[in-house]
Amino acid sequence: MEIALLGSGSQGNAVLVRSGEGAFLIDAGLSARQIGERMAGFGLSPGELAGLVITHEHIDHVRGAGALARKWGLPVWTNRATREAGAGLLGPIGRWHEVEIGAPFEVAGVRLDPFSVPHDAADPFGLLMQGREGYRVALATDMGFVTRLVRERAKGVQGLILEFNHDLDMLLSGPYPWPLKQRIRGKLGHLSNEDAAGLLAEVAGDDLEWVVCAHISQENNEERIVLERAAAALNGCGFAPYAASQDRPTPRFGPGGIREERP
Ligand SMILES: [Zn+2]
Ligand SMILES: [Zn+2]
Repeated sequence: MEIALLGSGSQGNAVLVRSGEGAFLIDAGLSARQIGERMAGFGLSPGELAGLVITHEHIDHVRGAGALARKWGLPVWTNRATREAGAGLLGPIGRWHEVEIGAPFEVAGVRLDPFSVPHDAADPFGLLMQGREGYRVALATDMGFVTRLVRERAKGVQGLILEFNHDLDMLLSGPYPWPLKQRIRGKLGHLSNEDAAGLLAEVAGDDLEWVVCAHISQENNEERIVLERAAAALNGCGFAPYAASQDRPTPRFGPGGIREERP
């Protein structure tokens, strides 16, 4: 199993997962055209995807999903609440697979175990992925705080994609209007560097091979601060954290850690 983030942040998120049996996207929040262009860098076309998995209905996770699904006849996996809340943004979708939080399902030979995250969407979820070879990766972004469940799912994984949304001081002194600041830092908002680093320090151990810091705010955070915080939390793990960006894909990550520089 190999994973690359095509883009990450409030302007659009998409995670490319590739196994020996195929490939799929988790979220499709960049435009369909952008997703096609960025996938081409990995030698893939959207038409080769086994489908799209949608974690929640926010625009930065579904922007290109409907267009891609219709153009390429792709099935979409999500739960009922997301499908209903996202109906307007997604448009007509030909093939649905209903996801139930807590019930694992399989796409392209990867077992996906969806778990609830606290976020202001209809019924958002994170994912614990497991390849046939037993390789495990957790995706935990778009969450206001770290729940016990999130902590459990992130423990013992080899790869972790973790939200480092904002630096609390930058958010509070930054340009956003107060209600938006409150939304972001609220229990159903986004994860701060402090909270993310706390979780990372807890789960960092022998098994962990790579960490991608994701959904980094362009207004209320800095890559330098994120990487400092994450590196401190990883103290002694023997690898450096990676910061995902809105503007370009990450390299591929998989068994052994980072596989190559980005295309
Ligand atoms: Zn988001
Ligand atoms: Zn969201």
